[in-house]
Amino acid sequence: MMSAGMYPFMFAMALKVNPISLLTGISHAHLQVYHQATCILSLIFAIIHTAVFVNAPLREGGMNALKEVWFGDFISYWSGTVAIFFMLWICLSSLGVFRKMSYEFFVVQHIISAALFLGFSFVHFQNLLDSHIWLWATLGVWLFSIVARSLSVLMSSNFFCGPRATVRVLTQAGKGLDLDQDRPDEFLRLSFITPLRWHAGQHVYVRFPGVYPWQAHPFTCMSIPSFSPHLPNKLVLLARVGKGITRQLYDRTAGHGNEHVPNDEKVSETNVATMSTLERSPEETTGTSVDYIPEKHIFQEAGVPFDQHTREITAYLDGPYNHSYGLGIYEHAVLFAGGSGITFCLPQVTELLHRSLSGYPILTKTVRLIWMVRSFDLLRWIQPELRQLDDLIHRSGLAVRMDVYAYRETVAYEDEHVHDFMYVHHAQRVDVDAVIDAEVSKATEVMSKTMCIVSCGPKSLIALVGNKVSSLNAMMAMGKLASLRDVRFVPEQFSF
Ligand SMILES: Cc1cc2nc3c(=O)[nH]c(=O)nc-3n(C[C@H](O)[C@H](O)[C@H](O)COP(=O)(O)OP(=O)(O)OC[C@H]3O[C@@H](n4cnc5c(N)ncnc54)[C@H](O)[C@@H]3O)c2cc1C
Repeated sequence: MMSAGMYPFMFAMALKVNPISLLTGISHAHLQVYHQATCILSLIFAIIHTAVFVNAPLREGGMNALKEVWFGDFISYWSGTVAIFFMLWICLSSLGVFRKMSYEFFVVQHIISAALFLGFSFVHFQNLLDSHIWLWATLGVWLFSIVARSLSVLMSSNFFCGPRATVRVLTQAGKGLDLDQDRPDEFLRLSFITPLRWHAGQHVYVRFPGVYPWQAHPFTCMSIPSFSPHLPNKLVLLARVGKGITRQLYDRTAGHGNEHVPNDEKVSETNVATMSTLERSPEETTGTSVDYIPEKHIFQEAGVPFDQHTREITAYLDGPYNHSYGLGIYEHAVLFAGGSGITFCLPQVTELLHRSLSGYPILTKTVRLIWMVRSFDLLRWIQPELRQLDDLIHRSGLAVRMDVYAYRETVAYEDEHVHDFMYVHHAQRVDVDAVIDAEVSKATEVMSKTMCIVSCGPKSLIALVGNKVSSLNAMMAMGKLASLRDVRFVPEQFSF
């Protein structure tokens, strides 16, 4: 019964839409560890239960007594044996080492095994002590998630009739002689016009029915939704090219030739841009549009460069998921992004500035964003977002500084479009401790009490920043951090 009582929680914490996330705001990604822990606990209870039922007849009458009991209540015994086998298989096959071998195989077999496990549990429990109540609750949680996600996909794709995703890749970037690298950084920039709304720090699952229809991949939203809730939103995702679906998309797009944005998309983008200008208040219309930056500006106005390839592809969105941590409740914010981790950090700064301009009360005095990249290629990928940030910074007056460290570049960054809030460093890595110490002393100088430190990128970066925050908290506990009373750490890793 203790094992069965955990089933609804165990399943809920594995599902993207689940009552626990809806009630607490904690995303399913952060509940994974509890999902795994409840599975293991549930398995331990099930093993104890099985051991007792096997051991008692064995001790009292040996193998013959066990056989008698087994065949006397055959349905209960064989269904229980199969159920515990599936439970054991589910726990073993979920170990990181197996998950990494093939993530998609893991997902498919995990769902099938869980369904079979639930089915055999129904047979095994026989509703003794009203135990089916836990199983119906589990089924209810699962069905609720399926229905909610299906509705979300239908709505975000305008019932499968919405515009297709625009995929962009750069094929030649990073091949300059000044760069200490033999391969370019390979990324995809995906953009969608969607009725979905989201917050900075949230991610969506993208399914490409024409490539791998059974796979849905999570990517963090790099843009922020339009200012007016009545306008469609432009969702931009930046994906590092791996070996699976991202490689397929890259190869298909790179082989597609250099294309311009199709005319119908240009028309719809112009319409949206015009509408957003009309709907904004006079003081807002004086600035550059913060709502909508047409994708055709991605590599300046000079037309599509020879190394940019574009393709339109059908994609369905599912989401958004994850809790959003508003930076506005902290007086100082320091964000560390490594490579594609910028998709988690940059929109948080943009959203903060957007909020401050909309009259939303925010406490933030300074923001420091540190971005570690291999080469300057990635800067080209986020030009529209940087222009938007530049515009917002100048209009809001908030102190925002961004440092970009390109550790494999040997020559300094030269770009006429470099913004005054950006400091680009080449051939060096960031000293995390020094940056945090500098920000802490700035905060204590102005007698601030709160600071938020965000880190998204490789495990090593998150560990480095996390350790520093731990030592700051230890110092704070000993009263050595002057006015600072709260240093919050928000880690985000792009894996489960
Ligand atoms: C919450 C979250 C947000 C993310 N945001 C971004 C982002 O903004 N930009 C970005 O570049 N990457 C992001 N990622 C990582 C991205 O989802 C994976 O890199 C992508 O799914 C890999 O696809 P692939 O088939 O090309 O990879 P492969 O090269 O085949 O696999 C690389 C690794 O990616 C992971 N992976 C593969 N498929 C999935 C899947 N369906 N779900 C989860 N993990 C998977 C596995 O650990 C695998 O070992 C995010 C991941 C998570 C969990």
